[in-house]
Amino acid sequence: MSTRYDIAIVGSGPAGLSAALNAKIRGKNFIIFGSDDLSNKLIKAKQIDNYLGFPNVSGIELKNSFVNHLNKMDINITNEKINNIYAMGDYYALMANDQVYEASTIILASGVNFGKPFKGEEEFLGKGVGYCATCDAALYKNKIVAVIAQNKKDESEANFLSTVASKVYYIPMYKEEISVNKDIEVVKDIPLKITGVNKADQLVLKNTNLDIDGVFILRDSISPAHLVPGLSVKNNHVEVDNNMKTNLDGCFAAGDIVGQPHQYIKAAGEGNIAALSACSYLDSKD
Ligand code: FAD
Repeated sequence: MSTRYDIAIVGSGPAGLSAALNAKIRGKNFIIFGSDDLSNKLIKAKQIDNYLGFPNVSGIELKNSFVNHLNKMDINITNEKINNIYAMGDYYALMANDQVYEASTIILASGVNFGKPFKGEEEFLGKGVGYCATCDAALYKNKIVAVIAQNKKDESEANFLSTVASKVYYIPMYKEEISVNKDIEVVKDIPLKITGVNKADQLVLKNTNLDIDGVFILRDSISPAHLVPGLSVKNNHVEVDNNMKTNLDGCFAAGDIVGQPHQYIKAAGEGNIAALSACSYLDSKD
C-alpha cells in the first residue's frame, strides 16, 4: 500500500519551501515536489533588494541560503513533475510520470506562466496537444511529434519521446546549449500557432510550418485548471480566501499561482499561511 501523506506540496519556489518548512515544524508527514534548482524564477534573478534580511543578493545566493535552511531542517525535495491531481473524496491522488502519490491535503505552489497559450493550444488540448511527453509518448508510436521546451531539463522528455516516435522536432525556448539525441531535429524558431481540423496537424512557426501528429508544450508550470479539475480559477490565478484555502476541501494554494504581486516574500508568507491552514484542517479531522 502506498504512503498517504498528510500534505503534498507542489512546487519548490519560495511558496512551496516556506510551506514545507512550516509543515516540518508542525510535525506533519509531507512531501514536496519540485526540482534541485528550486525555481527558475529564483536562480535567474540578477539582483534582489526586497527580501527581508537579505539586502542586495543574487537569485543564486538566495537559492543557496534556502538550500542551507532545507538541509538544516532535513527537508528533501522529490524531483518529480506532477501532471494531474484528482480529488478522491478524503484524499488527493497526484499523478507523476510513472507514479501516483496520495495525500490528505495539497498545497499548490507551482507558480504561474507568463504569456498567453499559443493559438490553437486550448482548442486542440487532448487532440494532439499535450503537456507531458513521458506520460503520453505511447500515443505517438511511429508518429511525428514536436516538442516546444521552455527549459533545458525538458531535453530528457524529448529524448524519451524519440525512442518511440518516428520523428521528433525540438523547439527550444531557452538560451543554454542544446544536447538532445542526434536523431532529434532541433528547430530554432518561434512557435506561433497550432492548426488542424479535428486534431492538431500542423505547428506554424515564424519561418516554417511543421506537419505533425502531436505537439508537447513543456512549460515551468501547468495551468491550474488543467492541473486540478474542479479548481476555481479566475484570470489564470487560483481563487483563495485569507487562509489560502481554495474552493476544494483540503486544497490550499500560495505564491504567484494565487495572484499578484508576484514577489518572493509574498510567496513565502502565503506558503506559511497555507501550511498552517492545512495543519488546522488535518487537526480538525483527527
Ligand atoms: P516559483 O518561484 O515560480 O516556483 C514554482 C516552482 O514549482 C518551480 O520550481 C517549478 O518548477 C515548480 N513546479 C511547477 N509546476 C510543477 C509541477 N506540476 N510539479 C512539480 N513542480 C512544479 N520577486 C521579488 O520579490 N523580487 C525580485 O527582485 C524579483 N526578481 C525577479 C527576477 C526575475 C528574472 C523573475 C523571473 C522573477 C522575479 N521575481 C522577483 C518574482 C519571483 O520570482 C516570483 O514572484 C516568485 O518566484 C514566486 O514564487 P512561487 O513559489 O510562487 O513560484
